[in-house]
Amino acid sequence: MEAGGRPGGGMTEVKLAVLGGSGAGKSALAVRFLTRRFIGEYASNAGTNACFLWMPCYLLECIYTKHLCLDGRQIHLEIYDPCSQPQRGKLSLTDELHWADGFIIVYDISDRASFAFAKALLYRIRESHIGACKKMVESSLFLVGNKQDLCHMREVGWDEGQKLAMDNKCQFCELSAAEHCQEVMAMFTKVLRNITSNFKVKEKRRPSGSKSMAKLINNVFGKRRKSV
Ligand code: GDP
Ligand code: MG
Repeated sequence: MEAGGRPGGGMTEVKLAVLGGSGAGKSALAVRFLTRRFIGEYASNAGTNACFLWMPCYLLECIYTKHLCLDGRQIHLEIYDPCSQPQRGKLSLTDELHWADGFIIVYDISDRASFAFAKALLYRIRESHIGACKKMVESSLFLVGNKQDLCHMREVGWDEGQKLAMDNKCQFCELSAAEHCQEVMAMFTKVLRNITSNFKVKEKRRPSGSKSMAKLINNVFGKRRKSV
């Protein structure tokens, strides 16, 4: 049994959900981390995953998997990047909340609506984790103000992002998936480090990875709907 309480031949399994409004740059950030490339020439939402033809990892719907080594520990990483998320209406997130070990909440600094959506997501995540170990929830949440290269079109101030993060006791950074490769790598690495250090202090138990992944995909794509 690994430190995270998960079976798997010395491999620690980490599930990370990248959430945020449509067009905020979720896929661009995931692609940057996984491939170190910025792929600007692709449509967001449904067409986004075409870019993964280039990726050195497996693509299964909107969950990308990758093996990596962090601090000498072998990690089997799954990144959930929803193809589309409604910015309006009821925020369910039930499946994502059960599935993920950590969350990167992304907004676009040049789009105030995406900031409002990030706020709602943070609220929903924290609300759902009431009763869970507070420190663990906080350290596995990262708020990211993306598209810093568009600061001439800025609609959301750095201080507003910082305040939202402080209010929700999560980590915060502004960066640009388009221009800041190192910052993107560092942000993901920090999230992974926080999550794996949580595994050391608390053993997590969950259904088998493939089963829970299939359930998430089915629900996201509407094959099986669950009311909240
Ligand atoms: P998603 O819907 O949240 O997955 O957003 P995408 O990753 O598909 O990005 C939406 C659009 O924003 C695409 O045209 C990207 O090329 C663009 N984009 C993503 N990140 C950045 C960034 O840091 N700077 C700029 N200028 N554009 C970006
Ligand atoms: Mg996308």
